[in-house]
Amino acid sequence: PDVLDFQNVSKTYPGQPRPALNDLTLRVPRGSRTGVIGRSGAGKSTLVRLISGLETPDAGRLLVRGDALGPATRAAHQARTGLVFQQFNLLAQRTVLRNVTLPLELRGVPRARRDALAREHLDLVGLGEYAGRYPAQLSGGQKQRVGIARALVTAPDLLLADEATSALDPETSAGILNLLLDLQRERDLTLVIVTHQLEVVRAVTTHVAVLDAGQLVETGETAAVLRAP
Ligand code: ADP
Ligand code: ADP
Repeated sequence: PDVLDFQNVSKTYPGQPRPALNDLTLRVPRGSRTGVIGRSGAGKSTLVRLISGLETPDAGRLLVRGDALGPATRAAHQARTGLVFQQFNLLAQRTVLRNVTLPLELRGVPRARRDALAREHLDLVGLGEYAGRYPAQLSGGQKQRVGIARALVTAPDLLLADEATSALDPETSAGILNLLLDLQRERDLTLVIVTHQLEVVRAVTTHVAVLDAGQLVETGETAAVLRAP
């Protein structure tokens, strides 16, 4: 099955006059790199929360790896989905290493194994030397590399980057996007990049979905969609 399969999904928040997402149909095949682009209010965060299992559709179906997310399946799918955030979401009181071991702690992985996996993933993002530092001692780009190491340490097959470069300057952003592209290829990940930045979609994705005010207004191969007048 496709990693994500939105079938006529709608979501309206209580008390809101219009749906945050309206009749969304979108498939994300395994191993693809898909951009989801739209302005503020387009419904991007809602889409991320649906994929994360934090919200449920109020009409239509969302299948994740072939399953509808429910009490019985949500945890298993969350475990296979790595999330990268705009504001990095690192814990200030923990070292870089302890930030990366956190998801493994939550799953009861023994300490020696946790530390080995975390160090391997810090090496992967080029921060092997920074294991003992604290987030406040890192640049924005370094913090995001820690965020990527944390997202991948549990070996997910889907990496969901939510405005992951929006807090970074263009040069740092380009470095992070190249890293995501390398990791996607090396680990055969499905990469979903949610952004308001056209250049991010252009740099990394093969397919793109354009959202506007909760509607999917365009979808297809990135080159074709971005070429359109
Ligand atoms: P984006 O991430 O693209 O900015 P959102 O998914 O956050 O879009 O928002 C889509 C629409 O849903 C907006 O009109 C927003 O105001 C509304 N919305 C988002 N979250 C909530 C919420 N928790 N409660 C009520 N309305 C919300
Ligand atoms: P159509 O809507 O006519 O299928 P698309 O350009 O959307 O045209 O799709 C062309 C091909 O790309 C199809 O084989 C489709 O399965 C595949 N495809 C569609 N969406 C995605 C995506 N998000 N990621 C990767 N491949 C996709």
